[in-house]
Amino acid sequence: MIDPNLVLAPLAAGMAVAVSFLVKWSSEARTPLRVGTAVFLLLMMVAMLAGAVVYYAFPSPAALVEAIWTASALMSLSVFVVFASFLREVRLRTTPEKAAGFFAGSGGGFLGTVVLLVLANELLMGWTFQAASGVLPVLSSAPLNASAQFVAFSVNSPWFLFTMAAEMLLTSWLVRDRLSRPAFVVLAAQSVIMVFSPPALGLATWSAVSVYASSVAMIALFVFLMEHLYRHPQLGEGFSRYLVELLAVYALMMAGLFLWIYYGDGTTFAVSVVLEMVVFFSAVVRPERLDERPAPSWQLRPHWAFAVLALIFVAEVFMGALLDVQIDPANYLGGFRVLPLSGPAGTVLGNALSNGFWFLATVTASLWFLAMMGAEMGMLVVFKYRETRHVENRVRLVLMMGCYVAFAVFYPSIYFATYFPKAPDPSRVPVLGWPMGVGSFPLAAGVFTAVLVTYLVTAALVALFGRRVICSTFCTAPLMYQGTTIDAMKSFNRSGPVGKKYLSSRLSAVYAATTALVMGSLVVTSMLSYLDTIGAAKVFIEGADPTVFFFTFYFAVLWYVMFVTIPYAGTYNCVTMGWCYTGTVAQAFQKLGFFKLKVRSREVCRDCSTLDCAKGCPIGLVDMPGHFRTKGEFRSSKCCGVGDCVERCPYDNLYIADVRHWFRERLGLPVRPSRTLMLPMVRSAGGSPPTPTSASTASTATTIARS
Ligand code: SF4
Ligand code: SF4
Repeated sequence: MIDPNLVLAPLAAGMAVAVSFLVKWSSEARTPLRVGTAVFLLLMMVAMLAGAVVYYAFPSPAALVEAIWTASALMSLSVFVVFASFLREVRLRTTPEKAAGFFAGSGGGFLGTVVLLVLANELLMGWTFQAASGVLPVLSSAPLNASAQFVAFSVNSPWFLFTMAAEMLLTSWLVRDRLSRPAFVVLAAQSVIMVFSPPALGLATWSAVSVYASSVAMIALFVFLMEHLYRHPQLGEGFSRYLVELLAVYALMMAGLFLWIYYGDGTTFAVSVVLEMVVFFSAVVRPERLDERPAPSWQLRPHWAFAVLALIFVAEVFMGALLDVQIDPANYLGGFRVLPLSGPAGTVLGNALSNGFWFLATVTASLWFLAMMGAEMGMLVVFKYRETRHVENRVRLVLMMGCYVAFAVFYPSIYFATYFPKAPDPSRVPVLGWPMGVGSFPLAAGVFTAVLVTYLVTAALVALFGRRVICSTFCTAPLMYQGTTIDAMKSFNRSGPVGKKYLSSRLSAVYAATTALVMGSLVVTSMLSYLDTIGAAKVFIEGADPTVFFFTFYFAVLWYVMFVTIPYAGTYNCVTMGWCYTGTVAQAFQKLGFFKLKVRSREVCRDCSTLDCAKGCPIGLVDMPGHFRTKGEFRSSKCCGVGDCVERCPYDNLYIADVRHWFRERLGLPVRPSRTLMLPMVRSAGGSPPTPTSASTASTATTIARS
């Protein structure tokens, strides 16, 4: 007996090639007859497969007759399509003025028909080939459930998923000449992600390999997209829309994969694949629409930027959860808190919020989510490193990436789990958890000592080198903020409805109120936690120690919520809005320390019309040029020492001073670092200074002037 797979595999390959060429042909159809022929051929394929489905649903001689009738009925319909197209072609040829407008007028309906027929082909093929290889589902008698089961059964099979991946790749290749390079890369990447669909094969090895491979492919696609946005802020309108639709599909797909691995339910994943097909084929049937009409820069479109950030984040959260369950099932399979969603509306809402809160918090604090985010955001930082001129800034970027690896990934998870397997999870130890990478469990008996030591070390480092030790190096947040694309979102600090209220170094009343609330909650929850520990109280929030809840709320939930709202609240909003208690403590010590920004020459700043230093600041310290002009230096407790102002100054007039410069001054050594650029601003008597427009114009200078 011949293995049915040996017959089905070449048939599936043939179908993939046929559908790809038909889609390409449809995309080029410019006459009614060609349009009708494309629809006719697709409908013929649907007819044959529909007949096969009827037969396999109830295999019997009677079903064979019904199958033939079904196929014949659909084929007759397809003949009508050709006939109608022929008549229309004749009519157009006799009225040439109407022929010119044919393509634009018939685009929408034709596009929808082609997409629908391709979709029907694939679903019917998935079903038929599964049935032919000996697998048949039992469908529910309820029509809605039966439809969902039909889609899930058809899609979650190698016949559908692998064939679809091949079709997507071949179709992208066939229409590549009509696509821009980025659009082609995105379409081709979709087929790579599709081929690594875990539900395609019911094998544990495939599940593992495909979860890792699809995660890597999707992260690579996100990095590519973000870097593309950084370099080309003006996308085509169609491509902008396509990206949002695709990212929405991927967010749903990752949620579907999580539900599949966690509950064994592949329906959501199947629905997301069907939606992806609709998005993909709608684009390739009219590929030129992707790149026509450039939209305004995304930096002027906060809603679009928010949609992109939020959808990527949702996809990443579910990807993190998927990786957690796949890599560490002992801890995560069944490990997410799930309160029942039944009872009165208030209870359902409360339980839903609680489930969502702890799901998000558990994932964002998990090793594999942090490792994945680190890889993605770290790549954007590497791109930024390549654009960074000053050695000090380069060193800080390298330290920042190293700190992320050490304090977000290695110490809290790998190191503690390896060397202290019996110790409690650091994120569950009251008061400290793992803020800034200081694991507290060896100090758990004396948590207040640990708090004190943590803040003393913080205070000393901040006083000597500035807040950048924490907010631009040790903390995990700067890695997320300082990659190329997210850094470019600092434009929203000026334009965002919330962000622009926090511009300048001024500590406004709202800022003071936010900080007071955060610091107050730190003190109250620490006291409660201490009273719980000594048995004097029994206060838990959401079943957790108050400080654990507090820490979880701020850094595992709120931080990410604020991150995706950058297009409204501005970047680095933990600093600008003052809602991080570690940042607030660091800020207090920065006031007492040595850190400041200094300029080589006040005159240069007075003559400067670019104000690029202020524009480059991700914190929105727009008042710095005024201080440079009057005092030659600028101190702000908000300044995180990112150094973008130093990079952006077109005259290389700016440098960061800390305790090292203070010592050098005392020892009579040169204080100012060497210039890396020439100083083009020379005021000739009675003349006006040159007015460069950006740092890049100055960086082309060839003379290196040493100050
Ligand atoms: S303010 Fe807090 S979260 Fe933000 S960078 Fe500083 S320490 Fe990190
Ligand atoms: S961009 Fe440079 S020269 Fe211009 S105000 Fe800022 S520090 Fe001074």
